[in-house]
Amino acid sequence: MATATSTFSVGRIALAGALRRAIGDDWVMTEPDEVAIYAYDGSVEHALPDAVVFPQDTADVQAVVRIAHELGVPIIGRGAGTGLSGGAIAACGGIVVSTSRMNRILEVDYRNQRAVVEAGVVNADLSAHTACYGFHYAPDPSSQAACTIGGNIATNAGGPHTLLHGVTTNHVLGVEFVTLDGRIVTAGGAALDHPGYDLAGLFCGSEGTLGIATKAVVRLVRTPAQVRTMLASFAEVAQSSAAVSGIIAAGIVPAAMEMMDQISLEAIAQYVPAANLPTDKAAVLLIELEGVAAELEPQEAAIRRVFAEHGAAEVRVAADARERALLWLGRKSAFGAMGRISPNYYVQDGVIPRTTITGVLAQIADVSDFFNITIANVFHAGDGNLHPLLLFDDRENGALDRVIECGTSVLQVCADAGGMLSGEHGIGMEKHHNMGLVFCDHDLERMQLLRQVFNPRNLFNPGKIFPTAVSCAEVNNLRRGVTADPHP
Ligand SMILES: Cc1cc2nc3c(=O)[nH]c(=O)nc-3n(C[C@H](O)[C@H](O)[C@H](O)COP(=O)(O)OP(=O)(O)OC[C@H]3O[C@@H](n4cnc5c(N)ncnc54)[C@H](O)[C@@H]3O)c2cc1C
Repeated sequence: MATATSTFSVGRIALAGALRRAIGDDWVMTEPDEVAIYAYDGSVEHALPDAVVFPQDTADVQAVVRIAHELGVPIIGRGAGTGLSGGAIAACGGIVVSTSRMNRILEVDYRNQRAVVEAGVVNADLSAHTACYGFHYAPDPSSQAACTIGGNIATNAGGPHTLLHGVTTNHVLGVEFVTLDGRIVTAGGAALDHPGYDLAGLFCGSEGTLGIATKAVVRLVRTPAQVRTMLASFAEVAQSSAAVSGIIAAGIVPAAMEMMDQISLEAIAQYVPAANLPTDKAAVLLIELEGVAAELEPQEAAIRRVFAEHGAAEVRVAADARERALLWLGRKSAFGAMGRISPNYYVQDGVIPRTTITGVLAQIADVSDFFNITIANVFHAGDGNLHPLLLFDDRENGALDRVIECGTSVLQVCADAGGMLSGEHGIGMEKHHNMGLVFCDHDLERMQLLRQVFNPRNLFNPGKIFPTAVSCAEVNNLRRGVTADPHP
């Protein structure tokens, strides 16, 4: 929505010079056509940064942060830019710190099930690296082939398998990050518990507003002996959501429990036909069980009973690893598949109590009718983490504004159901104006006081999370010296 542009363009020469001296000519971009790609992430927001830097280690990050602090320039951490809330966008201009070169797996301790990684390690690379020893990193966002551990930490990312295993914060034991004065904070570490405040926990989900993460100590989990992947289709969405609650009520917590509605299934069928997902039913549940055969047999039988009680039309179990992989490829490609049926989509990320899914989906259908905007639903049903995908055509006049208004109504429905504005994508610059739906002024003020401890001048990722954040104009008033240079 907000198409903020940098108000900082005249200082580019001074800034570029300082950054180049600090980390080398090859690792600094300031030309508008070079930095243009970094004006975007996976959301509908965009804003041009003044510079993009590619540090190779913590020392480089410290040098860049010191320059930002000295010149009063905003500084924004960036992993792969797959974020869906505008988190990595330079809302007020400034320096984007890309961690793409900080992608080393520094240490793996299989006996204690820990790994030390740099912030730019790609999520799926860590699991690939540890697979041959029978371990993996459990949080598995659908974007895991691209997104980074640093981005996952900053957004407290989830994924299909976080139903059983927990989200990112449950797998991060320690975070090293750089504060505004260029110093390093080591929060937590390899030990299970640390006295004092849980700063690593605080950093998880802080969306780049407390510092730049450079390293993390993460947990590794054993790859399960066996998995069983089940699919069931339903004629009514209400039947599938009742089955979700029924499975949990039967005492079974699957590793993953995902729902896709008919619009999503149609898009996936066009994009990944090999996934062979049904397209003739209102909803499909994709469920995965983990364990040993002796556990899986009775769990599968109990789930089949729940499916039967709720009128499942078809129940399938993946016959082999290939079929399982294709089912997951279909599910994890769902967002991208929207491109087959719509020029643009805008994804929401409401999280609601699981038992309210049926009612909330019905209300979202009403919102869709009211705004005359098609909404597809593909989501982490076990967690009650909805992803309504609002389909639109950005070329139509006013379409984006209307879709954003529609998105706010969707979030209102989630908030009214006792839910939250984000289950995993974060608030970023996209939803900060909605924070009042779930927090009072006092709540927001306390959170901002906490932010001030680490980020007293609001230079780390300004314009994010809080509706009352210091405006970009105020942030720019802090800038020193650099604004005097002519534009290159
Ligand atoms: C197709 C698709 C599917 C997705 N599926 C899921 C899903 O299943 N679950 C889920 O949780 N998300 C999902 N996402 C959203 C996104 O992938 C996650 O939010 C992911 O954690 C972002 O990682 P990133 O490396 O791309 O971070 P970016 O987008 O680059 O940044 C995200 C936020 O992290 C901050 N940040 C990044 N690196 C650092 C750092 N080193 N220090 C401080 N702050 C930093 C940025 O400032 C920003 O606020 C999906 C996105 C897409 C496009």
